Amino acid sequence: MSAVSRLLFVASEAYPLIKTGGLADVAGSLPEVLRQGGLDVRLLLPAYADVLQRLEAAPEVLAELDLAGQSARILECRLPGTPLRTWLLEHPVFSERVGNPYHDADGAPWSDNAERFLLLSRAAAHISTCDTALGWRPDILHCNDWHSGPAIALTHLARQRPRTVFTIHNLAHMGIFDRQVFERLELPAQLWQEQGLEFYGQCSFIKGGLVFADEITTVSPTYAREICASPGGMGLEGLLSQRRDHLLGILNGIDSQTWNPASDPHLVQTYDADSVQRKALSKSALQQQLGLQPREDCPLLGFVGRLVEQKGLELVLPVIGQLLDGPAQIVVLGRGEPRYEAALQALAAQRPDALSVLLAYDETLAHRIEAAADIFLMPSLFEPCGLNQLYSLRYGTLPVVRAVGGLVDTVVDASEQTLAAGTATGFVFAAPQADDFLHAGRRAIAAWHDRPVWQAMQRTAMAEDFSWQRSAERYLELYRSATD
Ligand code: ADP
Repeated sequence: MSAVSRLLFVASEAYPLIKTGGLADVAGSLPEVLRQGGLDVRLLLPAYADVLQRLEAAPEVLAELDLAGQSARILECRLPGTPLRTWLLEHPVFSERVGNPYHDADGAPWSDNAERFLLLSRAAAHISTCDTALGWRPDILHCNDWHSGPAIALTHLARQRPRTVFTIHNLAHMGIFDRQVFERLELPAQLWQEQGLEFYGQCSFIKGGLVFADEITTVSPTYAREICASPGGMGLEGLLSQRRDHLLGILNGIDSQTWNPASDPHLVQTYDADSVQRKALSKSALQQQLGLQPREDCPLLGFVGRLVEQKGLELVLPVIGQLLDGPAQIVVLGRGEPRYEAALQALAAQRPDALSVLLAYDETLAHRIEAAADIFLMPSLFEPCGLNQLYSLRYGTLPVVRAVGGLVDTVVDASEQTLAAGTATGFVFAAPQADDFLHAGRRAIAAWHDRPVWQAMQRTAMAEDFSWQRSAERYLELYRSATD
């Protein structure tokens, strides 16, 4: 193997320091698994106020960087619970802003997001291409999503550079800004072109990664195909199909310690595949906690996720009543668009004994719902990989999913053949229609009443291996091939 040893992994969020979605789960797991695989890894994150607050010990100041005239510091800490060296980019645009990394309390993007994430990108490019007081330069720069797209572009303008990998976690977020912003940012003028950051007259940060990276990955094989065509490519399908030979789908893994029903500290009752009947205790505890009727004779359906169009709310809302008439109970946990929050609350007010809606971001409840529910609902319109269906499989909570992206790659529909072969793990439907979702939901409810079939499916689901070890091997191979 050639000398791949140093990896700089750049992300805008990483669990447990800061998390708004699946990217944090990936950045909180993959770099550490790669470190265990023998790489010398640094994780680079912005030093948000919330991150600094969450640190167990004061971070060490490693260096002061001059980033296009702005001074920022690199602080070093360990990713909590791991020995992973984590570098925090400290600058007032991050460290003096409390709350969500991307938007204010009203959900409006921070007005200086372009400046903020360009700073992150400049730091990554600077560390990757210059001799700094850090005394460390990576062989591989691995950036994630639009926040660090420009890092790849800037790195590729340097005379000496590491090999670069860019991962798309969700193409819907492109980091689009006006041309005036591009000019204000004083980015090199040569980046204003189609084979650069220009995107239909605007500036798109994600293009920095897509145009320039030596290798592009995304988080499932099916999503890798979907984004090379319309509508999945969202206007970038031309560029992505041009780069198809350098685009690879690698499924995300899950943090199998955090998400392990046999040892999950959030649960009132742990269980494994041999004691899956103990889920009933979690179910009755949750029913009690949420004020649902303490019923054992009907399934509990769970939904955890952002309440946004992507997650299929338009399919769920019209048929909630019919699903409840199954009979079934439903629990929804999520924050999101006000119109969805209001519609869900109105439905819950009509059926408080059967439908519980929790408009919150709550890790403990997310774990408890995975353990308590019988069926998990994930009818996404598109889904790059999806983590909740993976947690659900591990918790024996059989998922109802739409046949898109990572959902197709990870859930096997219960058909006559797959049931006979013992491979079925969930319920898959194709068209983005409420009726099709309802039909799949009803199939799941019917299957739940057939105990032997249900238990066999649970056993298959819980035995699946979605550990990071497998995915990390694929990244290691990619790094090796990129540096050969
Ligand atoms: P996305 O990244 O599109 O939001 P994923 O399924 O890939 O979707 O990952 C979502 C992650 O965020 C999961 O770990 C999920 O449990 C978590 N999550 C989403 N909403 C909530 C919430 N309201 N409370 C707790 N965890 C949540």
